[in-house]
Amino acid sequence: MIARVIVDVPVNRTNRPFDYRVPDWLVPLMKIGSRVVVPFGPRKLQGYVIGVEETAEDRVLEKLRDVEQVLDDQPPLSDELIRLGEWMSRQYLCPWVTALQAMIPAVLKGRSEKWLFASEQLGVEECGRSSLLWDLFRRKKMPLAEVEKGYAEEAMLVPGWIASGLLYTSYQVTDRVTRKQQSFVRSTLSDEELAEAIASLPARAEQMRRVLALLAGLHGQSLSVKMLQEELGITRSPLKSLEAKGWVVIEQQEVYRDPYAHRRFAGETKPAFTAQQERVLQAIEEPIQKQEYGSFLLHGVTGSGKTEVYLEAIEKTLAKGREAIFLVPEIALTPQMVEKFKARFGDEVAVLHSALSQGERYDEWRKIIRKEVRVVVGARSAVFAPFQNVGLIVIDEEHESTYKQEETPRYHAREVAIWRAKENHAVLLMGSATPALETYALAERGRYTLLSMPERVGNRPLPTVHVVDMREELRAENRSMFSRQLHEMIGERLAKQEQMVMFLNRRGFSTFVMCRSCGYTLRCVHCDISLTYHRTNHTARCHYCGYTIKQPAHCPECQSEHIRFFGTGTQKVEEELAKLYPGIRVIRMDVDTTSRKGAHEELLRKFRTGQGDVLLGTQMIAKGLDFPRVTLVGVITADTSLFLPDFRAAEKTFQLLTQVGGRAGRHELKGDVVVQTYTPEHYSIRHATQHDYPSFYREEMLQRRRTGYPPYFRLVLITFSHEEVPVVVKAAHTMADTLRPRLAETTILLGPVASPIARVKDRFRFQIMLKYRDESRLPDLLAQATAAFEEWNKQHKVLMTIDVDPYVLL
Ligand code: ADP
Ligand code: ZN
Ligand code: ZN
Repeated sequence: MIARVIVDVPVNRTNRPFDYRVPDWLVPLMKIGSRVVVPFGPRKLQGYVIGVEETAEDRVLEKLRDVEQVLDDQPPLSDELIRLGEWMSRQYLCPWVTALQAMIPAVLKGRSEKWLFASEQLGVEECGRSSLLWDLFRRKKMPLAEVEKGYAEEAMLVPGWIASGLLYTSYQVTDRVTRKQQSFVRSTLSDEELAEAIASLPARAEQMRRVLALLAGLHGQSLSVKMLQEELGITRSPLKSLEAKGWVVIEQQEVYRDPYAHRRFAGETKPAFTAQQERVLQAIEEPIQKQEYGSFLLHGVTGSGKTEVYLEAIEKTLAKGREAIFLVPEIALTPQMVEKFKARFGDEVAVLHSALSQGERYDEWRKIIRKEVRVVVGARSAVFAPFQNVGLIVIDEEHESTYKQEETPRYHAREVAIWRAKENHAVLLMGSATPALETYALAERGRYTLLSMPERVGNRPLPTVHVVDMREELRAENRSMFSRQLHEMIGERLAKQEQMVMFLNRRGFSTFVMCRSCGYTLRCVHCDISLTYHRTNHTARCHYCGYTIKQPAHCPECQSEHIRFFGTGTQKVEEELAKLYPGIRVIRMDVDTTSRKGAHEELLRKFRTGQGDVLLGTQMIAKGLDFPRVTLVGVITADTSLFLPDFRAAEKTFQLLTQVGGRAGRHELKGDVVVQTYTPEHYSIRHATQHDYPSFYREEMLQRRRTGYPPYFRLVLITFSHEEVPVVVKAAHTMADTLRPRLAETTILLGPVASPIARVKDRFRFQIMLKYRDESRLPDLLAQATAAFEEWNKQHKVLMTIDVDPYVLL
């Protein structure tokens, strides 16, 4: 047998499968999608099996080296995911192996210890004459390293035993909170023997008798020791005595670390659908039933009931015996969403997101591999959920930039979802109140079916938006960060005991430190950006590399004392609120208050249960939250994101304002939104306050056409970095010179120029930008140019990253 293996050397030269011979003893475990250890030159490397050939001529086999180990009992990758990896490798110009690595949980990539476990099927008879099986039968598990050392002759038989289901392997992940192993107790006696045993106990052994009686009722099934102790109100000692007699066994069993284990979810009843929900559901019904590819953009205003549509679509998909993937931007930010899913689909749901510990992620992922769940709710990487029969992929808030991964492989979850939906003959449903321009443009051209829900559920009005021109405030001598109107409305809400959300647009706006006398700003000595002021410990810190200094008392340049931080932080707003409204209860959500695990949910819970008047925060609070008692949303600074060197600045501002505005008046109480701005005339602010996506879309499309940006042009950003300027310049020019003569005439190559952030962590950065309309040859061209570049780069060690359809242009 021959295995074709993608080895873990992420460079172009090795970006193809290599053949290995599979020794007979590993044949039972050899499956496509498994990880293996193979010799590669002088090294031993991990790799992924992407194909096997059952037979091969001896003459071929003789030339090959042997696979040394198979690391999985159940392959973590399916055939589909392997092919997806190949596609990503071409599409995003990354090594195939890097794409595959992105699909599996970190635990499988780390150095976690692997253990061998006895399965339920391993009984006395199966053990036969194997001392390893006997020991495993007794101990239940053993580190694999110990097996290899202590049972050398039998180690070769292990793959066969795994393949036949007697044994399995698993990783021992030690999270800080280890809840994975629990003690369970069961009786080894038959019913009659138990009765005899109970009768034989002395009168004072009351507790032991009660334990046995309880276990008798379980007929050999095990019960968690903790539960048993709670149930009977006993200590552990009677159990120990029973164990010593050999009547019961206490064993460690694996339990999933369910992050939601201690929460109860109320069963939810379905509402009767609104007319527009019905229409949308009808439209997607056919491809779901026929199991055909279909792609839909659901453009629904905030509060139009998109979530119900998603849930219903998932239910229909499950009814067809298929599986569903539900993507959300940052699942940690919407615990309400998870609750909805758990309420509706119970144990059928796995949740994957970045706030989980490695072990928790691994557990959730294994539920999918073991086919214990049929729905996955998760952030970006959940699009790789190893389901075998995907019938539906939903992307909520499809315009969100977190769907784009900003490290290799630089994929976009939407594109991966389209690929998987086509491959699986599944339905892709993308929803947003503010679709990405690229998506809406494709929907207009018929690539996706456009569905719309222009009304809020129950015809609740969209909130009234009041635009306040902050320049007028200044003219009226109001120097506070609150306009007179907002100030007044906050007072009214406090009097009526209604809740408020105050939103600070911090994108591109940080609290930098500047000297008022000479204009000097504190900058990072390693990177080309200003330091950000942190009030809690009076330090200034670089967001790129972590460089931190104490806030100086005097300007390093002119010695003036008037050096302070600029910009409005959440802490400052909080202080100002406290000053203006003594006794006001503010719940502040920002990176400082939410860094601890679970803090986020806790703050939201406090707000929901009325323990705060104001929820104050940044981008973090703009999305997906639904609080019935919120009747006022204040946007303290609307336009700080407008002037970033980013062609999406207007779009992001529009999205942000629409999302925040959508937080108000979603229930019985009517809502107001106050938007404070220095540029009320800007079209993104004007249209956002009118809730007018189509007008914004048209105006922004004109801008994009004029400036030659997506969706009219597509972009590729190639960035180079090195410690020495001449080297990085040479690298960029080498690549540009290789590319230029091969590009189509309509493709524009911009640069090489210094990147907007010209230095990060002492490395200088240069870039090339390609703008193209339709260049099907581009991936191949770039691959060739990259190969040539790698050749040149052998002596130079310049870091080059290629970003296809980039989001971050800095
Ligand atoms: P969106 O995701 O479009 O912003 P949601 O799905 O959050 O909107 O729905 C807004 C509110 O309307 C939620 O409180 C939801 O429970 C409620 N809702 C949705 N559909 C219905 C319906 N058919 N009947 C009654 N209430 C509904
Ligand atoms: Zn100064
Ligand atoms: Zn820095």
